[in-house]
Amino acid sequence: MKEITGKTRILGIIGDPVEHSLSPVMHNAAIAHLNLDYIYVPFPVKPKDLTTALAGFEAVGVQGFNATIPHKQAIIPLLTEVSPLARSVGAVNTIWRTPEGWAGTNTDVEGFLAPLLSIPRQWHQIKAVVLGTGGAARAVVAGCAQLGCQEIIMVGRNQEKLAAFVASWAHQAPPVPMTPVTWEELPQILPQAGLLVNCTPVGMYPHIDAAPVSATSMQYLPPGAIVYDLIYTPCPTQFLQLAQDVGATTIDGLEMLVCQGAAGLKIWLGRDTVPVTVMRDALIQRLMR
Ligand code: NAP
Repeated sequence: MKEITGKTRILGIIGDPVEHSLSPVMHNAAIAHLNLDYIYVPFPVKPKDLTTALAGFEAVGVQGFNATIPHKQAIIPLLTEVSPLARSVGAVNTIWRTPEGWAGTNTDVEGFLAPLLSIPRQWHQIKAVVLGTGGAARAVVAGCAQLGCQEIIMVGRNQEKLAAFVASWAHQAPPVPMTPVTWEELPQILPQAGLLVNCTPVGMYPHIDAAPVSATSMQYLPPGAIVYDLIYTPCPTQFLQLAQDVGATTIDGLEMLVCQGAAGLKIWLGRDTVPVTVMRDALIQRLMR
């Protein structure tokens, strides 16, 4: 790492909590590899302090930052520019400085899509089954819509939240074909799932023996199904191991994490490319510790 001086440019991440974020690991690895005079710092920011934090960042010249839970939605009214994609997702995770103020977008969608784009599929013939209706599911739905999936089947455990989630996509142009189903109906719809995505925290460390879909239900997947888990610790999850056992193509959450980070770093540095392999390797090394 370069010596930090008064000229060092500051990037970072705000969250509450933010102590366990892996973003500094991958961003500082990329910065060191590129020999740039930047540093990426985690900033713990409470919800009540969000406006003050942004004013402080403005004052001390922070160049750009990520927002994670619980700030991804709350930050939107504080930005002078929000990308149409971030508006449709309803969340911003990457913010950068402009002469007029702070601008924001959502790179989780690009991160989610990156590993899928290298898998040849007729996406308009694929039905995506999405487990969970929280923040990450919104980026996944936007990604599935960009792929042109035939239908997005949303699975939620809370009927009110599930209905509200589906309603929030009702007025998108072009329309997003979406069907809500309950967890109990999952075994019946899995035979249609060309893409199955876990957007719940079920199976995340330390509950590594849990999976949102049972071994029995996993057998209902059609041949050629892609099973994607947004969780990156452990890697792979029990969910992905069960999917591998039935011959599905699997994708873990690490790739989404790396690719959303790489998309943000490109924006902040104004570069077309960043060292994605260096970022991925830094994360893998940290996760193996
Ligand atoms: P979130 O907003 O809290 O949403 C979680 C969703 O999972 C909610 O719909 C929740 O339902 C549901 N859920 C929780 N426990 C469940 C259970 N036992 N059974 C069924 N459904 C359950 O969280 P998020 O931000 O969307 O994150 C979801 C997961 O994605 C986390 O594991 C996170 O680490 C991961 N993630 C990964 C990346 C990446 O870059 N790889 C990025 C973002 C998120 P209720 O609303 O009813 O509670």
